[in-house]
Amino acid sequence: MDSRNWRRALVVAALCGGLGLVSGPRVSARADYAFNDSHFHLTNYIQEGITVQDFLKIMGDKVGRSTLFGIPLQQTWAYGNTGDFAPWYYTQTDAPLYYYSFTDAFIAMAYKSLKPEEQARLDPMITGFNPADMYAADHIKRVLKTFPGVFEGIGEFTIHKEFVSPKVAGETASLTNPALDRILDTAAEIGLVTLLHNDIDMPFPKPGQDPYQIVQLYELFKRHPKTTIIWAHCGLGRIVRPVHDQIGLIARALDNPELSHVSIDISWDEVAKYLVATPETTAAVADIINRHPDRFLFGSDEVAPTEQAKYLKVYDMYAPLFAKLTPEASAKLRKGNYERLFDEARRRVRAWETANVH
Ligand SMILES: [Zn+2]
Repeated sequence: MDSRNWRRALVVAALCGGLGLVSGPRVSARADYAFNDSHFHLTNYIQEGITVQDFLKIMGDKVGRSTLFGIPLQQTWAYGNTGDFAPWYYTQTDAPLYYYSFTDAFIAMAYKSLKPEEQARLDPMITGFNPADMYAADHIKRVLKTFPGVFEGIGEFTIHKEFVSPKVAGETASLTNPALDRILDTAAEIGLVTLLHNDIDMPFPKPGQDPYQIVQLYELFKRHPKTTIIWAHCGLGRIVRPVHDQIGLIARALDNPELSHVSIDISWDEVAKYLVATPETTAAVADIINRHPDRFLFGSDEVAPTEQAKYLKVYDMYAPLFAKLTPEASAKLRKGNYERLFDEARRRVRAWETANVH
């Protein structure tokens, strides 16, 4: 084919794809994938990981689409603290973490190295901003303008996280900081999906301790009804356990029309261990998902997995939960809700870029 025929073929392919006549980028619509991954880290706390090409191989024919982000925080190797031991995880040293904005350029370049049909399987996210900085929203717009056609969301970023938040250098992040409001307003304006990590409580709360995080989080969500928010891990963590009546609390939140813009991801093996701890909790969690099938997303929260079996570990842990879901709730949790939220983000962010990138 000469170049003109190539161009014509591409235009025809694009038109057919737009009309849904060929199985182009919408790979995830294929029913044979097990899930789409709403929570995936390509790199770790020292900005190392696997290549995006290796990740696509690990997704293989099991995973249709996945979010793509690094980790916004870099663990310092403070020689005075750990000497020749180079820490790669935040629990290995008392040295601080700091915001590593280059992660966004790294993710963008990884994405841009892929073929269009490979890119269509990934939904990249901006993470490299300090949520306690009033300029964070400006960083988000700068990333979109520098790498148009790449990003669709922000996060996973963190306000309260066990062990991590107290180690971050600079001002302590807060749900009440106007800098966070600016970030969520910007996400609403542009159409970016927002993946927020915020523990539901502090680790090891004393009896009667004020669970201020739940109250502040509720107020934050209410202040931003136009932002598409995914609350990561429904607020659970390694040692942040379900609070008293957590299931009732989540059920009331899902019934509250003021929070209809908030979804929940059930990612992380540390969360799965709580949700399928006993047949009773599994049944209770399944019941709430069955009653709110549009509000939950599956995610792995794997960090740079080196093989597919490891990558699928969290999915496999949830087998008892999936078995108790209705077919509709199961399909939406594993695939449909992801496609609804990220297809919309893709459309809206590309439109914002068309209007704002010159
Ligand atoms: Zn995560």
